[in-house]
Amino acid sequence: MSIITRFAPSPTGMLHIGGARTALFNALLARHHKGKFLLRIEDTDKKRSTEAAIEAILEGLAWLGLSPDDAPVFQTDNAARHVACADAMVASGKAFRCYTTQEELQTRRENGEAKRAAAKVEGVSDEQKATLLEEASILLAPYRSPWRDGGEAPGPEAQFTVRLRAPDSGNITVADSVQASVSIACEEIDDLILLRADGTPTYMLAVVVDDHDAGITHVLRGDDHFRNTFRQIPIYQAMGWDLPRFAHVPMIHGDDGAKLSKRHGALSTLAYRDMGYLPEALNAYLLRLGWSHGDQEIFSMDEAVEMFSLAGLNKSPSRMDIDKLNDVNAAFIRQADEDRLLTLLMPEIAKLTEVTDVLEARVKASLGSMKERGSTLLELAESCRFLWDSNADHLNKKARKALREEGLTHLTQLREALDQTEIWSIEAVQDVLDSYCTAHALSMGQVGPPLRAALTGGLPAPDLAPITTWLGREEVLARIDRHLPGLPGTEQK
Ligand code: GLU
Repeated sequence: MSIITRFAPSPTGMLHIGGARTALFNALLARHHKGKFLLRIEDTDKKRSTEAAIEAILEGLAWLGLSPDDAPVFQTDNAARHVACADAMVASGKAFRCYTTQEELQTRRENGEAKRAAAKVEGVSDEQKATLLEEASILLAPYRSPWRDGGEAPGPEAQFTVRLRAPDSGNITVADSVQASVSIACEEIDDLILLRADGTPTYMLAVVVDDHDAGITHVLRGDDHFRNTFRQIPIYQAMGWDLPRFAHVPMIHGDDGAKLSKRHGALSTLAYRDMGYLPEALNAYLLRLGWSHGDQEIFSMDEAVEMFSLAGLNKSPSRMDIDKLNDVNAAFIRQADEDRLLTLLMPEIAKLTEVTDVLEARVKASLGSMKERGSTLLELAESCRFLWDSNADHLNKKARKALREEGLTHLTQLREALDQTEIWSIEAVQDVLDSYCTAHALSMGQVGPPLRAALTGGLPAPDLAPITTWLGREEVLARIDRHLPGLPGTEQK
């Protein structure tokens, strides 16, 4: 059997990080079995569905490398098919036209609540109380329509909904691949509405018909849909269709164990892109958040495809941990191809300063070291600041101190030596510094600080010799000159 999975988001907002994880699991399950992963946009709630949300879903999935194997399907396009299925169920006696009005339903509910309230009033005898509660429980029970066994329409123009005739007895069991299998008595299910009074299909009907028609073999989704499954199974049965396998994954919680919400951090998948996370890192993190394979923490997409199975899905909710995500992202940044990393990093740097070819060359030269200095692209871009900014106007206290008399003397002489060295390489510059220390019986602790202060003004940066090679001789001398008295164009701090 070829496996077909789907991700079925409602386009009512951003692509939620939990949705991205559901899409990832579905894509991995399909890819592991060399099956198909499909996308269905569940846009039946016309008031809340937006083009922008559809775009965000497609863009987010594409960014994560989780684009579907076929063109996305839009649920509203299938409305005629949903109606035809409802009609077929009416024809076979599995569903019926229900003429109960909204008002009648409301009255039923209100009467039920009134009786329940009356049972609590003081002074009501035990006998009265039992009767009231019994009547209330009938009125508040899942609705079984008086029309379920047929009957004449109240009039030629009478409005009706189409309801599924809920099974009269027995149990409905959800045999889930993640959760324990759960059964409920059929009495707990109402005669659920398949077509509303305006003839439009309900979500419950649409989702079952679409999953069946697409040949979905595995419905893998958040466990917020677990209860819906009890209502969807009778629709499959009424249509005489095989059930797919269900797998409901627990929700992602925040670090405090509460349901994930804005106060825990960004919820939108694309916000993580914009914060400088790599898609492969977010995938690897989301994968571990709800699935495990021994103790392995970091997976490439290829490894994940190879190892994924429903058996590894966790039964309990997972907690979003940004520090962990940062660690995973840092690991992926370090192993990323440097040309790609440069392409991703330069736009972030462009948000901080004007990018020139010279600057790009400096970033490229430094990337092998600099990629260790940040857990997101944004942090990396900020760590690279010394490559375009000597910080001379904002010297910190330590740098100011290093550039006092003695420091300036060393700096003047170092400048001379740096100007004269023939080769400009890490080793050559290191040699210049070492020789200067030896010649003057100084330690690097005395010579390094003034040079570092002149070059980076106290901004965080790696070792001096590599810095000088990334900046180039001309820039190094110019940065030194800004601090030396008496040279043309220098400022004295
Ligand atoms: N459209 C539903 C949602 O976005 C998902 C339906 C399903 O996966 O069955 O929550």
